[in-house]
Amino acid sequence: MRLSATHACPQCGGQVELHETSRMIQCGFCGVKNLVIPRGCFRFFLPVRQGVGERRGPVFYVPYFRFRGTVFSCDTNGVKHGVVDVTRLGLEASGLPPSLGMRPQAMPLSFTPFDASSSVVRPGVKASRILEAVVRVGPSPGGKVYHRSFIGESVSLVYLPLRAKEGKIRDAVTDESLSAQPDLLDSIGAVDGRDSGWLTFRPAICPACGWDLEGSGRSVVQFCRNCGSSWCSSARGFTRVQAVVYGRAGEGDRLLPFWRIGIREDSGVVESFADFLRLIRHPIVVLRDMEHMPFFLWTPAFQVKPKTFLRLAATVTLAQGKMAPGNGEMEFSPGLQHPTLGSHEAFQCLKSLIAFIAAAREEVVPLLPRLRFRKRSVELVFLSFSRLGADLVNGETGAAVNENLLRLFHAG
Ligand SMILES: [Zn+2]
Ligand SMILES: [Zn+2]
Repeated sequence: MRLSATHACPQCGGQVELHETSRMIQCGFCGVKNLVIPRGCFRFFLPVRQGVGERRGPVFYVPYFRFRGTVFSCDTNGVKHGVVDVTRLGLEASGLPPSLGMRPQAMPLSFTPFDASSSVVRPGVKASRILEAVVRVGPSPGGKVYHRSFIGESVSLVYLPLRAKEGKIRDAVTDESLSAQPDLLDSIGAVDGRDSGWLTFRPAICPACGWDLEGSGRSVVQFCRNCGSSWCSSARGFTRVQAVVYGRAGEGDRLLPFWRIGIREDSGVVESFADFLRLIRHPIVVLRDMEHMPFFLWTPAFQVKPKTFLRLAATVTLAQGKMAPGNGEMEFSPGLQHPTLGSHEAFQCLKSLIAFIAAAREEVVPLLPRLRFRKRSVELVFLSFSRLGADLVNGETGAAVNENLLRLFHAG
């Protein structure tokens, strides 16, 4: 379940609901579209129990990281996957609950602390370190695990309110006392002064021409129909995204977004598409021109079931030699589906994809820990899919996906 809370529309002040995956909102009252710009990640505050008040001491908030996504574990038998949706304490402190359990899903959350006088404690541990521990307990394929990766849909912070008074620390949601020592506050002292103003908005206007940008609420890229440019926005500003359509979408076809990521491997093992085919011990004959084709990882830029994700990535990546780029332009057909998975998240799947498609896994999978892949380039490519029964099929690559599965993952 996606976490959400309400926020005032920056234009008219009307209350709008935002999810941790929201990128753009259109206000239901004034109709104005704004880009949603969290600094870092989304932050949610659990509610403080009312009616207890000052007699329990002032409120301070401790941080929990929340991870939601898929973990892939690779061994010589293949790839296992599991869905992760957990919270973990973002501090090295004893006597506090290690996780928040179901509370973030079950309670009304807000984007700001209970009142202006409450303190917000900064995370004392890096999210990446906690994530490593979360991923380690992921699905176990049975054999020695050579690689694990996390394809995150979202990473957020959820704050638990506590009260400290007279040698006792209490959970300010339930008013129960905790075994944490009151000197906890001294030891974690660092209070995050940036707790206010972490969520800002920016008019959804093309930075190149001033036209309205378009994109669904969860779209990680916004598009300008006027000048054909595409953009990612973050707290640092707008970044231009290369976006193109391959082929031509016929009547009723869908244009599904894929990331085409140029890959470099530090030791030079994978420089060309031919190198990649040799690495995965693929049975197809390596042709001479493949030696000169730089290698690209292709992945869906949308959420689907983990197995479908790997299957689509495998089919399109292996078919890269057959694909003809379009005229290098964006084309806005009604069947265009907006990308909801970022290129950075998609890139994380590369080693799992290798384990998934390798023809001789017992030879290939043990090599994974030594390989150091980097991104050379990133491009968003829309491939055209036609209906064939219940499936959507791309003619050039043979990639197919059940249309209902797609719909399921794009609801909400
Ligand atoms: Zn409004
Ligand atoms: Zn424009």
